[in-house]
Amino acid sequence: MSTLTMPKTLEFPFAAPPKIGEVVEVRPGIFWARLALPFRLDHVNIYFVEDGAGLALIDTGIDNKASRAAWEILLALPLAGRKLTRIIATHFHPDHIGLAGWLCERFDLELAMSHTEYLMALNIRLDPSALKSEPYRSFYRSHGLGEDETEILLGNGLQYLRMVAPPPRTFLRLSAEDRVKIGERTFEAMTGAGHSPEQVMLYSPADNVILSGDQILAKISPNVSVEAMDPDGDPLGLYLRSLDRLKRTLPGDVLVLPGHNLPFVGLGVRADELIAHHEARCMAILEACKVKPQTVAELVPVIFGRRIDDPHQLVFAFGEALAHANLIIRDGAARIVQTPRGLALEAV
Ligand SMILES: [Zn+2]
Repeated sequence: MSTLTMPKTLEFPFAAPPKIGEVVEVRPGIFWARLALPFRLDHVNIYFVEDGAGLALIDTGIDNKASRAAWEILLALPLAGRKLTRIIATHFHPDHIGLAGWLCERFDLELAMSHTEYLMALNIRLDPSALKSEPYRSFYRSHGLGEDETEILLGNGLQYLRMVAPPPRTFLRLSAEDRVKIGERTFEAMTGAGHSPEQVMLYSPADNVILSGDQILAKISPNVSVEAMDPDGDPLGLYLRSLDRLKRTLPGDVLVLPGHNLPFVGLGVRADELIAHHEARCMAILEACKVKPQTVAELVPVIFGRRIDDPHQLVFAFGEALAHANLIIRDGAARIVQTPRGLALEAV
């Protein structure tokens, strides 16, 4: 495409989101609905794509009473008479896959998702208390988190199960570069890491539309966290590479249908903003580490500008601070040293 059609700021073609129980047609045969979430982030977007006489569903909302009730309204009103044909889950997070098992069983549907995301969803069920054992407790404590904060983080697996119905025992694997035919459309599957390990995005060149899951959002910087089972992992490096690939691969005027916030045009602009945002956080961390070595717990207020007391937020904040620290270490700009306050990042 010519650079003349490249938007310089984000554009929001749909000023207002659908109300709970409503759907909005964003392209002929592509529909957008919303479900509520009981968090500070209070909603998730789901989409339907015409699939013959029925509709393929992309993401499902969390499993709780309010979501199930909203689904009953969707099924009775805007979707009345239209069968669901299959479910595609972008990634294993509760707000995206929570009701997949429930819907699959109820309507005898297949669930399509990437291999890694499906296994992540299964793995948590195998031993939800696994995080409460070693070496995970010591891992959090070693980075300067207190006892209470550590217990909150260790309880994450059990929290997850409360929000996710058991997924089906079999799935259909989606991989990068698959061509996914839904009705008359052919989507190209793309995958991206960082926010989750193998998030699936579906791009329709004919519609100039991408269903992006949480990989790129208009207002929110998607959480990028180091997991306790991969303590030296570099999810931020993977995430930045994914943003770069999206920017290079997709047209600048593609309509992005994201998992949260409003649909937008301006993927390149937003990718650049997110890259700059993470670079600024890395710089702030390095500045703080030049004054004195900082534990990851101490870095949370450095990058978020405040203490985080909400347990749900702290899980994300700690993982995110560590993701920046690990990238900085890989870049060779800092190293880990032992201090009386725990392991700390020291500028080199
Ligand atoms: Zn997510």
